[in-house]
Amino acid sequence: MSIIPYGCQNINQADIDAVVDVLQAECLTQGPAVPAFEEAVARHCGARHAIAVSSATSALHIACLALGVEPGDSVWTTPITFVATANCALYCGATVDFVDINPRTYNLSVDRLAEKLAATAKAGQLPKVVIPVHFSGQPCDMAGIHALSQQYGFKIIEDASHAIGGKYQGAPIGNGRYSDITVFSFHPVKIITSGEGGMALTNDAGLATRLRLLRSHGISSSPEDMHPRPAQEIWNYQQIALGFNYRMTDIHAALGLSQMRRLDEFLTQRHNIAQRYDQLLAALPITIPWQHPDSYSGYHLYVIRLQLASTGKTQRQVYELLRAAGILVNLHYIPVYRQPYYEQMGFAAGYCPEAEQYYTQAISIPLYPSLTIEQQDYVVRSLKKAIEV
Ligand SMILES: *Cc1c(COP(=O)(O)O)cnc(C)c1O
Repeated sequence: MSIIPYGCQNINQADIDAVVDVLQAECLTQGPAVPAFEEAVARHCGARHAIAVSSATSALHIACLALGVEPGDSVWTTPITFVATANCALYCGATVDFVDINPRTYNLSVDRLAEKLAATAKAGQLPKVVIPVHFSGQPCDMAGIHALSQQYGFKIIEDASHAIGGKYQGAPIGNGRYSDITVFSFHPVKIITSGEGGMALTNDAGLATRLRLLRSHGISSSPEDMHPRPAQEIWNYQQIALGFNYRMTDIHAALGLSQMRRLDEFLTQRHNIAQRYDQLLAALPITIPWQHPDSYSGYHLYVIRLQLASTGKTQRQVYELLRAAGILVNLHYIPVYRQPYYEQMGFAAGYCPEAEQYYTQAISIPLYPSLTIEQQDYVVRSLKKAIEV
């Protein structure tokens, strides 16, 4: 049996042709593919504006900047996420804090958030921005988080890196009903890919303008942005803010657009594989991913939790047995504040107890559209063997 990764891109001939077309066209970057990809994602999600960038990390960075995050501010997020969700606040000179997870969804707990906000409102500094993450593709309780944002006056960035194609309350993730900005990732392990890439979606025209400006050096060529200059001088662009080169190329955008056309097919395949796991794993001493009845997951990840009292093996033993069987399982994620870089900022083990307990039990098993029935059966057989007492 060949190596089975936990996640993997799916590239077909149409994807390849789309990229080759760009290579043979006039513009490798800043051509028509980027706005076409933006338009396709915005339309699918029901968002007014979409800004394609070089990665979800850069999207998170400029999303924080567009919302005014600066030194002295605080940004809160979940500890069970990729480090980029927290790092974006540090890039802006702000501090980061973490809200423990809901033990059932593994998403940021709205109850813990409410408690922490109430305590902080008395004693300290309220967050400027909260970044919920739709972990594994399962939507967060956005209505609950949004209600708290109204009460305490913070902004919301949805890190939907795992969740494109998913739905919350019957409506697509990214529609911005309960947040200011939504961010997607198109890294190859995610649901659709552009090689590297990300996108920020918003319904706010002012935020969209700001995001576009920050994506490309803070340079504008719109006459209405230009500062007045003497009539004899030629000014066809002006830098009016400090931005970055976070642009997406047309090569990447063409792949992203082609993949976007396959999004629904990918989601169906991911759901079918997940349902099959649900059945095949039901009798094992494993907690399978609970699904909120009012949501449709993007199913970026299929995370199992080992019921360690009944497995007779440690998490590490199970992990290593599966890896030895050629199944490249992974752990999503080490709580961000347990990373050495964050520990050195003063975070200690035990800070978020539910996240830490999750961390000692979780393993992500393979889930991607081209995973075959035979491969899936092999994963299940190997897992059964690995957890045998
Ligand atoms: C992958 C990921 C990111 C970063 O995405 P890039 O496109 O690789 O920068 C951010 N947040 C989460 C939750 C992710 O999974």
